[in-house]
Amino acid sequence: MAQAKPAAAPIGELPPELDDPLFLQAVGQLDLALVHAGVDGSVAERLRYPERALSVSIPVRRDDGTIGMYAGYRVQHSSVLGPTKGGVRYDRAVTLGECAALAMWMTWKCALLRLPYGGAKGGVRCEPRSFSVGELERLTRRFTTELLPIIGPERDIPAPDMATDEQTMAWMMDTYSMQVGHAVPEIVTGKPLSVGGSVLRPEATGIGVVMVVEEAVRRLGGRLDEAACVVQGYGKVGGVAAHELALRGARVVAVSDIAGGVHDPRGLDLAALDAWRVAHGGLEGFPDAEAVTNAALLELPCDVLVLAATEKQITAENAGRIAARLVAEGANGPTTLEGDQILAERGIPVLPDILTNAGGVAVSYFEWVQDLQRFFWDRDEIRARLRDLMSDALNRVWTLAEAEGLSFRSAALVTSIREVADALEARGVYP
Ligand code: NAD
Repeated sequence: MAQAKPAAAPIGELPPELDDPLFLQAVGQLDLALVHAGVDGSVAERLRYPERALSVSIPVRRDDGTIGMYAGYRVQHSSVLGPTKGGVRYDRAVTLGECAALAMWMTWKCALLRLPYGGAKGGVRCEPRSFSVGELERLTRRFTTELLPIIGPERDIPAPDMATDEQTMAWMMDTYSMQVGHAVPEIVTGKPLSVGGSVLRPEATGIGVVMVVEEAVRRLGGRLDEAACVVQGYGKVGGVAAHELALRGARVVAVSDIAGGVHDPRGLDLAALDAWRVAHGGLEGFPDAEAVTNAALLELPCDVLVLAATEKQITAENAGRIAARLVAEGANGPTTLEGDQILAERGIPVLPDILTNAGGVAVSYFEWVQDLQRFFWDRDEIRARLRDLMSDALNRVWTLAEAEGLSFRSAALVTSIREVADALEARGVYP
């Protein structure tokens, strides 16, 4: 019989740079799942900390001639399964600890889908709405240059996240390519098609959210085409998810952006809403529905509540008033540990982020593979492959949750942790 190995000595107190509420939330979830994962203590301890973190200061020439300084980060949580992968966000709340939490979730997400990647995340602490296009380009190009020592198609592959998009990725790809002297489309995913992007990538996360929701509703004995849905966040994830839900016959009764939401119990006219948003720059003032605050939107009675905005939206404060029958996490970390526990006590199932929003990294993986092969697939092939990956992951999570009486979040984490732990065990500790 193999001798039990001693646990690794803990690093000690949490390093101050990781003492961040979101990182504590990620580690808290890990600890809850480790109880069920049955992995070696020393392996478990290694999963608790990111492998590598880079902190940079980015000077940006503003349009008025002054130089602004911005803090940027890139955190790589685990490279045991392959290069690290994760988004870049521009947001005033970005911290190293936040990036570390999001990088850890990316590790679980990639492992859950059995992608040959580990998790990373990065971002710049700034107010992106106050930047002109030229300022955003200069910020992105300088940030990419600062990241050069640790990114690369075989090392770490960035992607879009909050307030970054295809254009941001094109600037990152161009900056990296200029450094090495030839086009390297596989350095980032989420690029425009013209520089090696993939069809379906922009919609993939939102489509994946709805694939998971549809299957979960069916397994729970309901029908999506009879469901009333609320979507918080109307951006790249929530906007697509709302349309996909409507396409499948669901009634989208409320959606919101950062300024607030709109509500119509009969179902919103999303085409009219999109036209309003284009004309007015947001949802605010849409005349054919009732205005609702983001806080009130979360508490509307509905069958499915899709959280597609940002972190820490369901908390100890409001979890007792959530009136949804099923919560789907399109955003990363939208439910705090306390919020999760209250929802569990109230019997409201939560489809966890690492499963529900994994469609984005799945199609990012397809984009990277296509770039490496210089051979591109069509929309139907990508949609079919996405469906296969998402339903395989959902099936494994559901089976484990039922077999061991776990929440979907714990089952998803346990599944991922076991994948990563097996690889860590096999590779051992260097040197
Ligand atoms: P986005 O910037 O395109 O959209 C975010 C939306 O949420 C916008 O409508 C914004 O107005 C709204 N919002 C922001 N802060 C809010 C707040 N405090 N309250 C209410 N609404 C708020 O970003 P996105 O890419 O759609 O990302 C949304 C979430 O999904 C993030 O947590 C992100 O990490 C996660 N995610 C994104 C992808 C992807 O492929 N884009 C993949 C996986 C996970």
